[in-house]
Amino acid sequence: MERREAKRRIVLVPIPAQGHVTPMLQLGKALYSKGFSITVVEGHFNQVSSSSQHFPGFQFVTLKESLPESEFQRLGGIEFMIKLNKTSEASFKDCIAQLLLQQGSDIACIIYDEFMYFCGAAAKAFNLPSIIFTTTSATNYVSRCVRSKLNADKFLVDMEDPEMQEQVVENLYPLRYKDLPTSGLGPLDRLFEFCREVANKRTASAAIINTVSCLESSSLSWLEQNIGIPMYPIGPLHMTTFPPSSLLDEDRSCIEWLKKQKPRSVIYISLGSIFDMGTKEVSEMAWGLCDGNQPFLWVIRDGSESLPEEVSTMVSERGGYIVKWAPQIEVLGHPAVGGFWSHCGWNSTLESIAEGVPMICMPFHGEQMLNAMYIESVWRIGFQVEGSKVDRGEVERAVKRLMMDDEGAGMQERALDLKEKLKASVKSGGTSYNALDELVKYLKTM
Ligand code: UDP
Repeated sequence: MERREAKRRIVLVPIPAQGHVTPMLQLGKALYSKGFSITVVEGHFNQVSSSSQHFPGFQFVTLKESLPESEFQRLGGIEFMIKLNKTSEASFKDCIAQLLLQQGSDIACIIYDEFMYFCGAAAKAFNLPSIIFTTTSATNYVSRCVRSKLNADKFLVDMEDPEMQEQVVENLYPLRYKDLPTSGLGPLDRLFEFCREVANKRTASAAIINTVSCLESSSLSWLEQNIGIPMYPIGPLHMTTFPPSSLLDEDRSCIEWLKKQKPRSVIYISLGSIFDMGTKEVSEMAWGLCDGNQPFLWVIRDGSESLPEEVSTMVSERGGYIVKWAPQIEVLGHPAVGGFWSHCGWNSTLESIAEGVPMICMPFHGEQMLNAMYIESVWRIGFQVEGSKVDRGEVERAVKRLMMDDEGAGMQERALDLKEKLKASVKSGGTSYNALDELVKYLKTM
């Protein structure tokens, strides 16, 4: 009788946030389709196991000890991550020990979100191979490496110097020191310390990045030369694995609404899964969008109920449609959508480029600013909104600039050009396709 070979197991450890969980699960699906077993280890909130029906064949394990969501609200991003890493290591080791005891369990590798560096220490303790997964851009990875070498006090003094601000980071044109994401992520000294922890505690033998070489070739070469471990740019993962997986319920009524709109007439607005605008800003945005005279589809996570009544009425009377959560990839791929007003999270950026949709950028912090800089100055498929406050006049001008002006048409053309390049990169023989192939070969040697 033929003996069936047991599948080798990959343990995945995502950060419990939509923008990190989604690409990790897409990676899981890609590796599952290549013959690996998948175990997802999760903390106590944003659990994917609640929608495990979308991941047939996956095993889900919850850490005994991890932080609750309230700690994220209380501490903010950086402090939360530092504490999460301190508190989860022992539980994770228990979890790996249990998995190894299971009959037939043969762990080929632990793949962890690079910010969950406690996994590297645990993998080392069990003598298991580990790989980091970067769910943000390669350029953001570079910027973290650069920041891990900086001293917060000196950096603050240096940034007073306009010449230093404009200086390009070692051979990394167009990345200047002033573009390094440092704001909005917590106090600078804690941010730099976190970057150092991420860099120093790394024991992984390779890095997987959800990016495409045609978008970030200079940053990828920098990483290859400076990090000293193999890099696998296998993205955008959402183009290779379907269906996408959302932690929140998607309101599909917007697809019916889109069907009634003219081709490329709609501007889609979403600021991701974490950030919210204040009531005043939302009202300004609503006025500006209405005055832009283009139909718009707007994701407001608290729903239209959160708008002042007169604003909500105006929006529905003047061509707007609001949902709490949209099937974003499908929306961006709909022929009626002609522009994306985005906070420039990396997933949203990749999803927009993959559908050839030009962007209006409203980044809030750190890496989003870096992505916005690339969208505006490197790929030239969008622009940043003027001013630091949301102002109805600026919103109206931005919508018209993207959707009606010749300049917007140029951005659209370049976005469509990039879309074709991305399509080619995930097809047989393309760079991301080949990188995934190489990754699978590498995992099979483990
Ligand atoms: N997203 C979605 N529906 C929405 C808004 C967002 O499915 O209404 C998804 C979007 O497709 C993307 C993710 O949420 O995959 C947001 O990730 P991103 O990195 O852009 O931003 P973050 O939420 O991490 O700030």
